[in-house]
This record gives sequence, C-alpha cells and structure tokens, in this order.
Amino acid sequence: MHILLVEDDDRVAAALRPALHRHGMTTTRLAQGRGAVDHLPGVDVVLLDLGLPDVDGVDVCRAIRQVSDVPVIVVSARGEVDDRILGLHSGADDYLVKPYDIGELVARVHAVCRRRGTPAAAGPAGGEVVLDRVRIDLDRHVVTVDDAEVALTRKEFQVLALLAAAGGTVCTRSRIVAEVWGRSWPGANRTLDVHVATLRTKLGRADLVQTVRGVGYRLGVPAPTAE
Ligand code: CA
Repeated sequence: MHILLVEDDDRVAAALRPALHRHGMTTTRLAQGRGAVDHLPGVDVVLLDLGLPDVDGVDVCRAIRQVSDVPVIVVSARGEVDDRILGLHSGADDYLVKPYDIGELVARVHAVCRRRGTPAAAGPAGGEVVLDRVRIDLDRHVVTVDDAEVALTRKEFQVLALLAAAGGTVCTRSRIVAEVWGRSWPGANRTLDVHVATLRTKLGRADLVQTVRGVGYRLGVPAPTAE
C-alpha cells in the first residue's frame, strides 16, 4: 500500500515514515500542499496535514477531490470541532487529531481503504472460518450455526469477520471500532459492547466471542468441561 504523506513538520514525518514502513506501507512525502494532486497516481491513501506553510490543507483536500476519489485522512493538530467538520466537508474520509496512536492511524488507513474497496487493503483473504458448529463465510458474508443461516446486520458481521480473521488473537476495542465504524466517538465502546452482546445472542453461543478484560475481544472455543 502506498501512502502520500503531506506534512511540513520534519520531525513528524521522520517519526511516521518508519512506523508506516514497519506496517508494510510505502510512502512519498511532500513538505508542502502545492503539487499534491500531481503525486496521486499510484497512491492508495493520502495523509494530509491541515496546517501547511503554503496552502491550507482544506484547499488541498478539495483539490484532490476534484481529480480523484483516493481516500484522504486529514491529520491535524487542530482539534476544534469546526475544523473536523470542515475537513470532512472538504471531502476527507476521516480525521485524526495529533498526537495520535500509530496503531490507530494504521487501523484507519486500512478502514478507509476497505470502505473504498481498494484491493490492496481488502483485509482478510476471505475463505471460511469454522468454530465448533459455527461457520463464518468471509467471502459470501454468510454465517451459519448447525447449517442454519443466522441473520446479522452489516456491522455485526464486520465485527465477527474481523475477529474471525484474527485467528483467535485478541482484537483491541479501538481497532475494532476504527475498522468497523471508521471513526471513534465517546460512546463507541458501549456501541461495540451492544453489538457483541447481540452477536452472542444470535449465534446462540455466548462463549464464542470471548471478552479479554480491559483489552478487547477474541474468538475461541472454550475447552470442554468435564461432566
Ligand atoms: Ca503542519
């Protein structure tokens, strides 16, 4: 995945680029907004700083939108609500306020790509995950329990698919929220809990989606208890 980083702060860029590279991404960095649209070919996601020395990042975002539907994540030190709304209205897909967690940034990069259907970030390779009597078909978006299809909402399926693709490892709450909802908000954890509770009920297997206290969730089949 190739990232266009539009960031005038050398220290931020110097810290960010190796971190993105460690997550398997390649980067092109521009220290100014002018000319950003010329660098779009081959770019999967634009990380755009709002406070640039030559032109306002919001104008850069609008200019990008006029020529491309590449996902744009606005990254800015400005945290005011007005700026967030302005950023999103100018065509940005997401908004992150500095300082941010690199893990959250990476999760959001994947999330915007997935929502745009960028092949490079199609996420789990697909296939089928079978846990006990539960079958999760990641390609067809079908879940069955004992061969009976379970009707899940889109978000419920996305949460389950993310956990299934993690192969039994823990998914943090912030990652699940970032990847499924593409943003975070004060009530996000509560919303996630509600979705997990509904999932457990619909699957008829409360023990399958396991809570890892203080961290997140994972899928697993508990060891059978002696009778
Ligand atoms: Ca800046």
